[in-house]
Amino acid sequence: MIDKFVCAEIPNPDVDPLLYDIVKANMIHGPCGLLNKNSPCIKEGVCSKRYPVTIIQETQRGEDGYPKYRRRSTNDGGFKVSIKSIDLDNRWVVPYNPVLLRTFSAHINVEITSSIKSIKYVCKYVTEGSDHAAFGLGKTDNTDELKIYLKVVENGQRVYFTANNVAQRIENPPTTTLQAFFQICQTDNFARTLLYPQVASYYVWKNKNFVRRKQGQNVEGWPGVKKDTALGRVYKIHPNNVECYHLCLLLHYVKGPTSYSFLKTVNNIEYPTFRATYAPGVTGKTHLINILLAKVRSSYGIAIAAASSGIAATLLHGRKTVHSAFKLPLNLNTIEIQTCNINKQSNMANVLKKCNLIVWDESPMSHKKGFEATV
Ligand SMILES: [Zn+2]
Repeated sequence: MIDKFVCAEIPNPDVDPLLYDIVKANMIHGPCGLLNKNSPCIKEGVCSKRYPVTIIQETQRGEDGYPKYRRRSTNDGGFKVSIKSIDLDNRWVVPYNPVLLRTFSAHINVEITSSIKSIKYVCKYVTEGSDHAAFGLGKTDNTDELKIYLKVVENGQRVYFTANNVAQRIENPPTTTLQAFFQICQTDNFARTLLYPQVASYYVWKNKNFVRRKQGQNVEGWPGVKKDTALGRVYKIHPNNVECYHLCLLLHYVKGPTSYSFLKTVNNIEYPTFRATYAPGVTGKTHLINILLAKVRSSYGIAIAAASSGIAATLLHGRKTVHSAFKLPLNLNTIEIQTCNINKQSNMANVLKKCNLIVWDESPMSHKKGFEATV
């Protein structure tokens, strides 16, 4: 089973000369150690990547969840390559997947991780949030082809593929809801007034497009637009995933984006990354709010900062979402009388009575009953 997906052997040059050349050019480690003491992988006299790996006749499941892949000796049917006039055998092969290698002709290390320990390592937050993990592929050695393929999938979009359609899928990744939002913002004036998380209130997802809702409340000033109570969901993204995280932040601030480059443009300057864009484009406001909060608090006043979404709340000092700051009921749509669940005698009620400043960031994204309850 493992051998079907991951290989750590030099291909037979007579049977598969193409793969042999790709492996030779991209997947041979070193040589290091006794053969080359100046290799960059050498740390304190030994190879930090643990090459050369031992010869093994059959693939075995490793105790730490990482298998030991089959690496046959040259006496046992294994092949060798000659690099810088040094003969290297299967002990020097970085594990790879033949399909990926043949397709991209680049250094792509593939490993199987099967223990609970290794799965937990990959999905660090296995017990909370959505069941997605983001993987990054980066440059090693001098082989840069991989980036060309990654570049087109700018939003870190996950693309699923098989051996037969991999090239096509990467050239034309399937339309995402974000790309469909860009599309309606190009043609629909009402869409241009919206933030991405708001789109689901007014549009439904149909045949890979957003189309206006037919049911719901009329929207003043926009004949033909209907509003429903549905809320869009933007996946929680770990800040370590820098570009996706800042893309996500921008989507909470930029109305009616028509493209990724639109999102990256502030005051007619297009920034190279979402993070770079975020600094002048958005943090200006957050910075101002934080100054106001600090001013009130420095004179022993009470200032409460809250934001509609958790992602904006993480940027404010003393941050909270409005639901937790004001103990708003969660079912704002269905209840008749709106009150905050705060006891009049409680400390929290006292704080609210005495407070000098309430900042409600992203207020257009909150339900109006939320304000009514708080007031
Ligand atoms: Zn090494």
